[in-house]
Amino acid sequence: MISQACLHDALSYGKCFTGLGQPADYIPELARVNKHQLGVCIVNLDQEILKEGDYDRPFTIQSISKLVSLILALHDRGGEYLFQDKVGVEPTGDPFNSIIKLETKTRPFNPFINAGAITVASCIDGKDTEERFERFLTYIRHLCNNDAICLNENVYLSEKSTGDRNRALAYYLKASGILEGDVEECLDFYFRMCSVDVTALDIANLSAVLANHGTNPFTGENLIEPSCAKALRALMLTCGMYDGSGRFAMKVGFPAKSGVGGGIAAVVVDRMGIGVYGPALDEKGNSIGGIKILEYLADKLDCSLF
Ligand code: GLN
Repeated sequence: MISQACLHDALSYGKCFTGLGQPADYIPELARVNKHQLGVCIVNLDQEILKEGDYDRPFTIQSISKLVSLILALHDRGGEYLFQDKVGVEPTGDPFNSIIKLETKTRPFNPFINAGAITVASCIDGKDTEERFERFLTYIRHLCNNDAICLNENVYLSEKSTGDRNRALAYYLKASGILEGDVEECLDFYFRMCSVDVTALDIANLSAVLANHGTNPFTGENLIEPSCAKALRALMLTCGMYDGSGRFAMKVGFPAKSGVGGGIAAVVVDRMGIGVYGPALDEKGNSIGGIKILEYLADKLDCSLF
């Protein structure tokens, strides 16, 4: 069991490192933030919630949304098809937006790099982007226990107008026969799902569902198939922090998924979900203060899988 004082100390420790990183600026709107913000929230499976710092400050979910879109695509297409024909389940060792392996491999290495996530986004059912995004919003609101979650219009427009690298990935995937449907519609959905505002509390709730094998610990409602939750945790452990996943496994040792908005969703299976937020990023695009908080907690709570 974790005490409030321990969480407070974890936050203070994390704060020592925020000066060493920078907010993402390739999406211009993300650069307009105080990089010293830092917050953490823990949702224990016995329904206790602990929070510290900027735990209720909104930030865009960015790549953490790739968890949610993957669950929807797995539901719509099934794991056999998705992981066989569309996207692999192996780490790349390359940056999240890398293009280099697309020419030599038939499909993206995993669903969490941008190429993989854009492919997964093209496999979500819906008659148009509007309908797909409505499905995404409804589902994420359930997973995060928060009906108020919605799009951050400014970040969405900022990413859409500067997202040429993702556009390049998507068109290449279309030319290779991997991406389904209309490229611009797929990208529009992808930019929207990345631009949804959440808080550390929201992503701690989402993580708690994954820690609880897919069942909401408060309502008892099953939101994710247990086998799907297990697959997600495995992918988070091996690929969730991009080319920083190996070091993160050594230093922290439980599944996590980061986003360039500064969030990290982390899962201590059968115990708790953790959400952290700190927009100062390291060179891999992961929250620098957020990782330090998780290192501190993993040590104090003795919850590394290894
Ligand atoms: N929306 C971001 C992008 O596509 C997501 C990347 C991330 O969070 N690592 O570049």
